[in-house]
Amino acid sequence: MGLIVQKFGGTSVGSIERIQNVADRVIETYKQGKDVVVVVSAMGISTDHLIQMANDISENPSKRELDMLVSTGEQVSMSLLAMALQEKGYQSISLTGWQAGIKTENAYGNARILDIDIKRVNGHLANGNIVIVAGFQGLTDDDEIATLGRGGSDTTAVALAASLKAEKCEIYTDVTGVYTTDPRVVKEARKLDSISYDEMLEMANLGAGVLHPRSVEFAKNYNVKLEVRSSMEKETGTMIEEDVSMEGNLTVRGIAFEDNVTKVTVHGLQDDISTLSTLFTILSDHKINVDIIIQNTNGNEATDISFSLDSQVLKYALEVLSKYQTELNYEHISYEGDLSKVSIVGSGMISNPGVAAKMFNILASKQIKVKMVSTSEIKVSTIVDNSTMLSAIECLHEAFELEAKQPVNV
Ligand code: ADP
Ligand code: ASP
Ligand code: MG
Repeated sequence: MGLIVQKFGGTSVGSIERIQNVADRVIETYKQGKDVVVVVSAMGISTDHLIQMANDISENPSKRELDMLVSTGEQVSMSLLAMALQEKGYQSISLTGWQAGIKTENAYGNARILDIDIKRVNGHLANGNIVIVAGFQGLTDDDEIATLGRGGSDTTAVALAASLKAEKCEIYTDVTGVYTTDPRVVKEARKLDSISYDEMLEMANLGAGVLHPRSVEFAKNYNVKLEVRSSMEKETGTMIEEDVSMEGNLTVRGIAFEDNVTKVTVHGLQDDISTLSTLFTILSDHKINVDIIIQNTNGNEATDISFSLDSQVLKYALEVLSKYQTELNYEHISYEGDLSKVSIVGSGMISNPGVAAKMFNILASKQIKVKMVSTSEIKVSTIVDNSTMLSAIECLHEAFELEAKQPVNV
């Protein structure tokens, strides 16, 4: 028999016609003798509209009420899909996240899934139903509705696939798979047949919005067979799996980017043993995520520390740092916004020294100034001006030979 979890994103359920199309895709799998659990996102950009309405009422809406509000989006599409399936003659039931037993931590707006009680879903499956579950939502210990962060329906799907021991989790979206970079930005981007969990996790964390990062974490930790594919076209998509060999002698699998970066510099700190720990403890106590960190010491007693963060939290970070000026004993703070992060990702870097050097050479040859750098075993990230982001992505994509080349398995 076997069980498949299928997730359909916002565009894929964006109209009544599209919901009918989703119903047909689901029925195709059901007719192959599979149990099917479907996870849906809210229709089109309806989550954005809900957030907009909240912001029209309040500058700082209560996080609890915001989750109550945005969790309704998925409940519209899940019930419409269940009706479409019933209309076509198939037994179907829709469940909210909490009805489906999804338990989350107590963190409105960005909760992690802690556990799934699969009893009810299994019961409905056993009775012959196609079960539709609302993505992006769960219930906390205090019986409060919490959402999983933007794009979180992917995570609902993979977590359910892990708990239900599904044979596969299929993420249906508005592109035909995972590409070497966002195909809406670089038209030469090439669809990948497969990509490893680790590479996909880096890509997702570094801005490739095609999968919610936590969904990839779940897939890796529970070894879920994961495929990203199109809800409109029939071609096979991209498999995300454990070991994927590099194609030919390529070192880089893909390029990810995001354009919401600000660099903050704290000038004139005392250069003593606890400076770094005091500064970053204050930031972390206030839940401010920093990314790349650079310390500049120029020989005397003072030191400057720069770090990058999401531009959305800049205002709050500056308020916090100013509140602690006496304790931190710094001279002043400066910041530079309108920056982007452009990253190359690929497991081929582990065994090939010089990938970072090649990246910097390519960027320099295009007169693109790199302002910050960070690396891991399988990625190099650079911070550049927003105005140079696109040309950085394009020249790296070309130089690392990511465009249209026949995959060669080695
Ligand atoms: P859904 O609503 O189905 O969850 P998303 O908008 O969240 O869809 O994700 C699909 C989008 O991800 C694509 O339309 C594409 O613009 C973007 N994207 C970013 N990076 C990549 C990539 N490397 N490969 C494919 N799509 C990408
Ligand atoms: N509807 C939610 C969002 O727009 C969750 C999702 O689409 O995955 O972020
Ligand atoms: Mg998405």
